[in-house]
Amino acid sequence: LSTVDITITPSTFGQGEVSLVTLKQATGEPQMIWLGKRIPMVYNKKNELWAGFIGADLTTDPGRYKLQVNYTSNAEPDFIPITVRSKDHGIRRITLPKEMVELDRDTLQRVLREISTVKQVFMTPSEDPLWWGRWTRPLPGTIVSPFGCKNIINDMERSPHSGVDLKAAAGTPIKATNRGLVALVAEHFFSGKSIVIDHGGGIFSMYFHLSHISVRVGELVEKGDPIGLSGSSGRVTGPHLHFGIRLNGRRINPLTLIEISKTLE
Ligand SMILES: [Zn+2]
Repeated sequence: LSTVDITITPSTFGQGEVSLVTLKQATGEPQMIWLGKRIPMVYNKKNELWAGFIGADLTTDPGRYKLQVNYTSNAEPDFIPITVRSKDHGIRRITLPKEMVELDRDTLQRVLREISTVKQVFMTPSEDPLWWGRWTRPLPGTIVSPFGCKNIINDMERSPHSGVDLKAAAGTPIKATNRGLVALVAEHFFSGKSIVIDHGGGIFSMYFHLSHISVRVGELVEKGDPIGLSGSSGRVTGPHLHFGIRLNGRRINPLTLIEISKTLE
């Protein structure tokens, strides 16, 4: 294995965070398995290396894990120790009108249907990666509400914040964070006008609360392509973009993914 250069940046990360795995190898895609799932890797011509991401959900137990790497199909696997740290993402308190929180029967039914629709999208990813290189911001705005924080809504604890809220005046153009297929276009009770992009290899990005959507399901979008305009649709206290990433079903901080992928091109 002395001929293979593998780097994991960082090799210790927190719940809801992600790490970049790169390796130089001449022959074929290396096989990586992380927390029971295969991690497809993408070849980066410029840097001449294979790249993939491993992440921990907000609820992944802190501790020591092993990343399994098969450099070639017939070689013995290598097991690389990875530490997932406990991470406190803070708390946010929100006050919302009662009817947006205590849902009537019909609204609850609607919300359950919408949750199952989105779940279905996550369960049927494009196998081969469509993404390449670095991940980019959908818009430049500052963070108005961080990823992963505990949501206390009208004094009740709810699901933690699954994305990051970026400041955006209504009507700001939203750009695809990477190349992918539009997997969902919908208007949902909580997330409003919503887009989900399937980047292949188990990575999805989400853009919520839009005022306008300019793509259709099944459309292939390139990195940086305009996909819609920000707004305040759904359950919000003001206009912003909710930007989320799922990596193999795990909720990870989108800004961490952007940060660690900077070295790719
Ligand atoms: Zn949000």
